[in-house]
Amino acid sequence: MTPEQLQRAWVLQAQADAERGVLECRMCRGRVLLEETTTLWRNGLLVFALCDRCAGSHDVVFSPTPAGVEVRARRRRPVELVAKEVPHVHGPR
Ligand SMILES: [Zn+2]
Repeated sequence: MTPEQLQRAWVLQAQADAERGVLECRMCRGRVLLEETTTLWRNGLLVFALCDRCAGSHDVVFSPTPAGVEVRARRRRPVELVAKEVPHVHGPR
């Protein structure tokens, strides 16, 4: 499925889900209660949902574009990488 098809499918499902008070987070795809999500509505349609857990650890930016709304999420804390470098030992010169 293309991202557009995926979005359309999600939107269709989300309208039905919202009536039941449960939504699928667009980021972690977990099922969360409606009151525990940040939702974005356009023209009466639910187009995006983000659970509080994902929202809490990311900086999320919504920008309207001619095609819809672009959502960018960035981890608030960079992923901690453990660099395992072999210590470079300088031998005697
Ligand atoms: Zn989530």
